Amino acid sequence: MLSTSPCNIRTIGVLGGGQLGRMMALEARRAGFKVVVLTDEPPGSPAAQFADATIHSGYSDPAALRSFLDQVDVVTAEFENLPDSLLQAVEAERPLRPGRKALFTAQHREREKMFLREQGIACAEFRVIEDLAGLEAAVAEIGRPCVVKTAAFGYDGKGQAKIVEDTSLPETWAAFEGQRAVVEQWVSFVCEVSVVGARDVQGHMAVHGCIENEHAHHILDVSIAPARVDPAVTSRAIELWEAVAVGLDYVGTMAVEMFVTAAGEVIVNEIAPRPHNSGHHTIDGCMTNQFQQQFRAVAGLPLGDPSLHSPIVMVNLLGDVWRDETTPPDWTPIWSHPRAKLHLYGKATARAKRKMGHFTVIGDTVEEALADARAIQSQLR
Ligand code: AMP
Repeated sequence: MLSTSPCNIRTIGVLGGGQLGRMMALEARRAGFKVVVLTDEPPGSPAAQFADATIHSGYSDPAALRSFLDQVDVVTAEFENLPDSLLQAVEAERPLRPGRKALFTAQHREREKMFLREQGIACAEFRVIEDLAGLEAAVAEIGRPCVVKTAAFGYDGKGQAKIVEDTSLPETWAAFEGQRAVVEQWVSFVCEVSVVGARDVQGHMAVHGCIENEHAHHILDVSIAPARVDPAVTSRAIELWEAVAVGLDYVGTMAVEMFVTAAGEVIVNEIAPRPHNSGHHTIDGCMTNQFQQQFRAVAGLPLGDPSLHSPIVMVNLLGDVWRDETTPPDWTPIWSHPRAKLHLYGKATARAKRKMGHFTVIGDTVEEALADARAIQSQLR
């Protein structure tokens, strides 16, 4: 990996034009960095709205990449589904943080699972399959219920099918035909948690603690910090996060999503090699937020204090609550709560399930923050 002294880093290049790039650009520019975005999204993307410059192009256009690299001192990614040829080309010329190893591993479920298995990090039992015979053998070994997930490019429950007692395997496989897939044991969890934290160039790590996550229709709905779990679960979750970060030689902000079982076991579900939706509460609830940590790590600077200063709840705002494609709901329930904050991502059109923004509510206790957040959420609907 190329290295650059922190004092020579003035411009941060961001691969991707989404809301994670937007929120990092806001933080980085506040601290005087320039931000240049390379994205295949049309002009006006969430990140482009706050970047100093944006290059609009596919990710495999050499001229666009040349222009991007010429403008930046260091490169990070705000989403991981990027072509490996791009990651290699970037890493050959500029420090890429996190590096190709982390992005290449976490962008692909099979590689991610194999990494976890090789590192001895607890994850659900799995088999990699490529045809119906493989699916039948895997389901026979793992047992039902289980879940089939595409090996590549799945997120928010996309490319997944649960297999229960009466599920027909040939019918299930028809949707996956031609793709490699992972068959995973179904974990009967009592709750889902994540750990979001950062690792700097020297290997120092700073985590924001353990976050409790509730999903609706496979998409994150609510994050609660701190998680209402036993301290032993929090410690174990942080240990797992650290093992992943070290194993991937990670630099930057990373989230690890996990399941907690009734016995208090903690099992890794997924690695997100970037700031994460379940870390959005850190903007309003932590001494140093996940986006500030990301640009600090990427620029070779020391990390800030990640600690949570208040119990806080974050609620996602999906396009589903918009009145129509372009009309948001009336935000009065948020504005009239003195400890609630609204964050919108600047997306021109709303669609069902599209992440349009989020809001947070601080409380004296988690219970108070959660009750107020739920009340606001139901008024917005
Ligand atoms: P994923 O896209 O893999 O993060 O899955 C989305 C959601 O599906 C998770 O947050 C869980 O709620 C559920 N899920 C995924 N895999 C499993 C599993 N092996 N056992 C139980 N629930 C799962």
